[in-house]
Amino acid sequence: QTPNIRPVIRQLDSAAVNRIAAGEVVERPASAVKELVENAIDAGARRIGIDVSGGGKILIRVTDDGCGIAPSDLPLALSRHATSKIDGSDLLNIHTFGFRGEALPSLGAVGRLTITSRVPGEAAAEITVAGGETSAVKPAALNSGTVITLRDLFYATPARLKFLRTDRAEAQAITDVVKRLAMAEPFIRFELRDVSGDPRTVFRAEAQTRDPMSALRARLSDVLGAEFAENSIAIDTEREGLHLTGYAALPTYSRGAAVAQFLFVNGRPVKDKLLTGALRAAYFDFLSRDRHPAAALFVDCDPQLVDVNVHPAKSEVRFRDPGLARGLIVSGLRHALADAGHRASSTVAS
Ligand code: ADP
Ligand code: MG
Repeated sequence: QTPNIRPVIRQLDSAAVNRIAAGEVVERPASAVKELVENAIDAGARRIGIDVSGGGKILIRVTDDGCGIAPSDLPLALSRHATSKIDGSDLLNIHTFGFRGEALPSLGAVGRLTITSRVPGEAAAEITVAGGETSAVKPAALNSGTVITLRDLFYATPARLKFLRTDRAEAQAITDVVKRLAMAEPFIRFELRDVSGDPRTVFRAEAQTRDPMSALRARLSDVLGAEFAENSIAIDTEREGLHLTGYAALPTYSRGAAVAQFLFVNGRPVKDKLLTGALRAAYFDFLSRDRHPAAALFVDCDPQLVDVNVHPAKSEVRFRDPGLARGLIVSGLRHALADAGHRASSTVAS
């Protein structure tokens, strides 16, 4: 039975469109922190500060010393599908975390967002968006870089607010996000502060002159603990344009749950079934079935060989040749683990 109404198709206004997109991009405070810290990394920052309050629901502030945003670009930074990172002609050639131009407009749709920024040679300026209303660009005080302040996240979407966990749990999720990003960037300083008084988390930048593998080891030791670093072996192997590096823990350092598995593709933290499956397969002969390996692994390749545009949060990837990626991890880790085993047993024998 046809209902007696005639549907009318309307174009949604940009505030509504941004709120809809925000549902995918900003699931919880930690997702906002992820987007803002990734922007700071994309901007070439060497120091990134993250201040949070109320589990990120009251305040998230990310401060960086990156390239900044010109005053005339501030309104564009807040408009949807506006990005400085790609020109749109080549979606298979992505070298930055961002490229969708969605994070800032989405955050502005679900919280009160202020961007304060300065580029060399111009005065600092700021812009605010709240409740779908964008302010004019105003002069501001800032020496360099960018400060993005997000207050009252989800104040306009009480339904989403209700789904959030306790402040403590949301703060923990933020810490996890920062740790994950910090693992991949040992040459950047990260400082996370919870305004509610928890101790600061600081990951000092490794010296630029340090070689990347030893810098990575030092950072993993800071983030995952010295014990992980001491019980891990260095992985550095390559196959047909896919490069695998990182540290994989000895089977004796395994865990009862898969909690210490960190996978990155071109520097991007991913949660990928293909890669975690390969990790499990690599340890198959070395671990009993109820044990889980610990590892921080980085797959790097030409951006053309992997599609990161699978999901708005960009935590899934698709390799052009999934078998190659799996094979690289399985055989790279197996060889390294077998070598370590031989070395261990020959030390015992001698
Ligand atoms: P995307 O990162 O996908 O480009 P965003 O909405 O996250 O989209 O950011 C929009 C634009 O704002 C970026 O392309 C960049 O030019 C600028 N921007 C955002 N954050 C920063 C920052 N911390 N420093 C410098 N520029 C930034
Ligand atoms: Mg971004």
